[in-house]
Amino acid sequence: MNLPVAEAPSRRRAPALDVAVVGGGMVGAATALALARAGFGTALLEARAPAPWHADAEVDLRVVGLAPSAVALLDELGVWPSIRAARVGPYAHMHVWDAESGAAIDFDAAREGHDRLGYIVENNLVQWMLWQQLERAGVRRLCPATVTAFEAREDRIQLQLADGEQLAAGLLVAADGAASPLRQLAGIATHGRDYAQHAVVAHLSTERPHRCTAWQRFLRSGPLALLPLADGRSSLVWSLPEAEAQRVLALDDAAFADEVGVASDFRLGRITATSARAAFPLRLRLAERYLAERMVLLGDAAHAVHPLAGQGVNLGLRDVVELRATLLAARAAGRDIGASHVLRRYARRRRSADTLDALGFDALARIYAVQSPALVAARGLGVRLLNEWQPLKRRLADHAAGR
Ligand SMILES: Cc1cc2nc3c(=O)[nH]c(=O)nc-3n(C[C@H](O)[C@H](O)[C@H](O)COP(=O)(O)OP(=O)(O)OC[C@H]3O[C@@H](n4cnc5c(N)ncnc54)[C@H](O)[C@@H]3O)c2cc1C
Repeated sequence: MNLPVAEAPSRRRAPALDVAVVGGGMVGAATALALARAGFGTALLEARAPAPWHADAEVDLRVVGLAPSAVALLDELGVWPSIRAARVGPYAHMHVWDAESGAAIDFDAAREGHDRLGYIVENNLVQWMLWQQLERAGVRRLCPATVTAFEAREDRIQLQLADGEQLAAGLLVAADGAASPLRQLAGIATHGRDYAQHAVVAHLSTERPHRCTAWQRFLRSGPLALLPLADGRSSLVWSLPEAEAQRVLALDDAAFADEVGVASDFRLGRITATSARAAFPLRLRLAERYLAERMVLLGDAAHAVHPLAGQGVNLGLRDVVELRATLLAARAAGRDIGASHVLRRYARRRRSADTLDALGFDALARIYAVQSPALVAARGLGVRLLNEWQPLKRRLADHAAGR
């Protein structure tokens, strides 16, 4: 529901702010920084201040694989050098194999003429380094802050904050995550499905080195990934039915290490030590539209996808690039950046690109959940053919890289 906001008489003037970004996770913080650097008057509203990142603190359990397109944006925003200098796990190879058919596919950066396929980076490191730049870029930070209501007017959108403050901006950007309270306030429905799975995450020491390789094994129960960390350990992302996830979370360390060893086919040998563990519910959630009056959605607020392709935040950062291009084009043409006809370009382009990717990841999850022997054999044949078919493999790798 889009609620009316009682406006203080003194605030009846063109908004001082061009853009109000709600949600300061990786995607929202990158949006605020990118738009401020492009000369838009920008505010960032976040409910919880990010925890400071420290080099001597344990590696954040939430890590992401950043594709070259994401690294390029962070580099352009001036934050990549500090992220890279802090702690990143570059990976140059990817090995994906099927527990049922044994079929495997390999991606190798050098073969494609690149140094890396990407980097495994802690979520809170990326978020923290983005936040370090906000003030210098002129972003007005409001934290803790939550929006309780908003109302689009002819020339602005009026926001009501929980602490009683009001704010007006030309455009409201909802980057408030998969549960997006703003999306709900705007009455935008989502499509998708609940995978009835949780991703169990932990950092593991292994008998054999990870060799800068992202490993992923598809099991009947769901995919298991081992992602190379900077400190030589591997980050586990193990998708399991909910009850199984709860069971493995409750195991003692030795039993947990044994089960991960078996599930990963001991590809990195025995698991010799494990960090604390956590689990995240897995859902496919696609907003039915990315646009409301003077408002756009981006990041997980617009699309939450299965982590098997490691693309969630990469898609979100591509939304940022497209939104910035849309707003810059509008400004250059002297148009209102909050007008629906302006924002339609962003919404159309990103919704179709994100939907294709999200449905592709969902199709992969479905294909690997199949257990019939005939279909498993067909799947194995398909994967083996794909592994030999260099032009198609290159196109897949380029697409994942955002090239
Ligand atoms: C197990 C797992 C593994 C993953 N691996 C990968 C990977 O390898 N590669 C990849 O690209 N992606 C991966 N992802 C996905 C990735 O983590 C998400 O796509 C990404 O974190 C989304 O960022 P975001 O900024 O859009 O949302 P979030 O990180 O959810 O940030 C939303 C922000 O909004 C704030 N907020 C919420 N409500 C309000 C409100 N009312 N007012 C103000 N602020 C509010 C929150 O406090 C939060 O800071 C993975 C996800 C999971 C669960």
